[in-house]
Amino acid sequence: MRFDIITIFPGFFDSPLDYGILSRARKAGLVEVATHDLRNFTHDRHRTVDDRPFGGGEGMVLKPEPLFDAVTSLDVAPKLERQPKQETVILLSAQGRPFTQSIAQELAATDRIVMICGRYEGVDERVNEMLCDREISIGDYVLSGGELAAAVIVDTVVRLLPGALGNPDSSRFESFGADDAPQEGASADGVPRSTYGAGGLLDYPHYTRPAEFRGVSIPEALRGGDHEAIRRWRRRMALGKTLRNRPDLLDRIAISDEDREMLAELRLNLENGRE
Ligand code: SAM
Repeated sequence: MRFDIITIFPGFFDSPLDYGILSRARKAGLVEVATHDLRNFTHDRHRTVDDRPFGGGEGMVLKPEPLFDAVTSLDVAPKLERQPKQETVILLSAQGRPFTQSIAQELAATDRIVMICGRYEGVDERVNEMLCDREISIGDYVLSGGELAAAVIVDTVVRLLPGALGNPDSSRFESFGADDAPQEGASADGVPRSTYGAGGLLDYPHYTRPAEFRGVSIPEALRGGDHEAIRRWRRRMALGKTLRNRPDLLDRIAISDEDREMLAELRLNLENGRE
């Protein structure tokens, strides 16, 4: 897979792409990330990338010509001939569709992703209409530029690529994970697996040694080797966390009878201030 990022601050990406999973994936040749300085596609002495908005108002807008030249230089197919499943051009924008784990999964199945980072008041809308397949926002807040959003997308997508994580199951059994089937068996070290894919819920809490820390013990269910008790505890915790922090997610998932029971109890506890 290859990412091409068009930005006025190419140096911005030096550090975020140089740690952990991203760095390893790049060294292993799983992914290539190239940054392109938008100013290299200007044709005036001042290397101008922006201009005043038509209609007046605040700030400056990124001009279309350098962005068109930059995308053209990357040899991606014209929008109407493009197969967005293989190569896709994304505009980072606060006005875009919210970035989710399922969009990350779609992107992880492509071969090439070009990202355009806006700055100032944003980007001439013709760039979105004529060049881009998707307009993506990483959340309901306004950043000063698309660079952080592009780095977020690279990170999220790369960890989904086969071979990027030491244990491929790590990206299945976590928050927003799509799998909802109970997992049979145990991992190589005999420890029960996460036992349930997150199935669209938030992940359950994790604990490691020591079992006692500053007077606080790990939950009793995790102490013994009772796999069924561990599974029930984890499911209950995932439902509880989702209920407290992201109740909207509960409307989008398949709820089992066991979930329904746990949720009724969790809601009661929440109302009585016990959760
Ligand atoms: N005037 C724009 C608006 O109100 O929607 C905000 C422009 S913002 C200051 C400059 C650039 O940051 C945008 O063009 C976009 O590339 C990027 N940006 C800001 N917030 C973003 C978000 N939530 N997700 C993705 N990109 C964002």
